[in-house]
Amino acid sequence: MSTSFDREILGLPFYEPRHLDHAQRLDRWCAGHTDLWDVPHEQDEFREQAVRRTLRALGEDGWFGFLDPANGRPADGDFRTLCLGREILAYTDDTPDNCFAVHTLAARPITRFGTDAQKARYLPGLASGELIASFALSELDRGSDIAGLGLRAERDGEDYVLNGDKAWIAHAAIADVLCVIARTGEGPGALGLTAFLVPGASPGLRVRERIAAIAPRAFAHLDFEDCRVPAECVLGRPGQGFVVAMDMLDRYRMTVGAAAVGYARRAADAALGWARARPMGEATLFDLPTIRATFADMEVKLNAAALLVARAAWETDTGNRRFARHSSIAKLHATEAAQEIVDASVQVFGAAGLVSGSVPERLYRQVRALRVYEGTSEIQKTIIASAIDPRRATPANPERNRALTER
Ligand SMILES: Cc1cc2nc3c(=O)[nH]c(=O)nc-3n(C[C@H](O)[C@H](O)[C@H](O)COP(=O)(O)OP(=O)(O)OC[C@H]3O[C@@H](n4cnc5c(N)ncnc54)[C@H](O)[C@@H]3O)c2cc1C
Repeated sequence: MSTSFDREILGLPFYEPRHLDHAQRLDRWCAGHTDLWDVPHEQDEFREQAVRRTLRALGEDGWFGFLDPANGRPADGDFRTLCLGREILAYTDDTPDNCFAVHTLAARPITRFGTDAQKARYLPGLASGELIASFALSELDRGSDIAGLGLRAERDGEDYVLNGDKAWIAHAAIADVLCVIARTGEGPGALGLTAFLVPGASPGLRVRERIAAIAPRAFAHLDFEDCRVPAECVLGRPGQGFVVAMDMLDRYRMTVGAAAVGYARRAADAALGWARARPMGEATLFDLPTIRATFADMEVKLNAAALLVARAAWETDTGNRRFARHSSIAKLHATEAAQEIVDASVQVFGAAGLVSGSVPERLYRQVRALRVYEGTSEIQKTIIASAIDPRRATPANPERNRALTER
């Protein structure tokens, strides 16, 4: 029986029967497609090929259908389904989860803010996996400080000209279209940013450097040197870039929590299999009281994380206007808990858990990034603290707050 998702949680009133059906179908799909990503990933070339192959297969088999509401199944774009999807994909492997997450979060601003022409140009190809999307927000000098972003976009006749850098951008080197947040200066700080849909082949846009990280990923730094794009590439309104970014981040953070649950469940299952099989005198490792206590701790953390993710997704899908704090709570708790569970799994394996390529060793490297991207744990704490009582919160950044209240 499958363990890539928790069937009992899907029986709670948060969910509908279609969610269980989706989870079962995706679980089967993953089991039948491991060859897509199960290749040596250490070299950029192989990694990017695996990403392309995986995105294409996910698209061809309909898992991105919700991105093109005209042709797909819009219900699959609810956050309970997206979170379940990331949980199951992350349980299976790092690559399909990253592919799914980066592609859908980068496409989402087009579905939310795109003109009819932008939607017609990009959404069918993104839904089928023929086009690859990327979201370029962070910069070398500014990651957490989104309101302070420095990449400039200056109006020149019918065009905008972009100059500056973007950093740590997933799928940057293979993207057909990048959603880029740049400074256009309509106002100070967060009020002076605009979102652009920049074609990956634009002159003046180049990959500065591919990044080798503790867990290999297809991500890179980008340079924009007099990169000229027509004004119809603006996504949303000029000056609305911060809102475009936060609209996506506020929602996608909970899906990072969901991926963390997937990694953690895989680690806990692997450790359980190991502990039950490993002889300890007359008994097994699992029979030792301290080891049993370790598993009890893992189980509590896993359940708490999964429930917080389920709540955040349910609050979002049912229209709670204050869903964003639940998204941050779910991301913060689930990613921190997953780190602890994966670490405990390595401990249960002993030396075997440190061997390169073993399941615990890979998870140990892969899970670390989740506490950094889409807002670090510290940033989540800042958001959660501000949401405890918004009347008492000190507006640390008035432009940022004004931009958000205007959405
Ligand atoms: C695997 C991976 C994939 C990524 N993919 C993308 C992508 O596709 N697109 C994209 O745009 N970006 C991407 N990023 C970048 C990511 O979003 C940033 O790394 C993240 O926002 C943190 O920014 P930073 O690395 O510059 O750290 P900094 O902002 O410099 O933070 C450094 C430390 O200071 C703390 N800190 C900073 N500001 C505050 C504050 N106000 N209060 C308290 N503590 C603070 C942070 O919590 C952290 O501990 C990716 C990163 C990783 C690791």
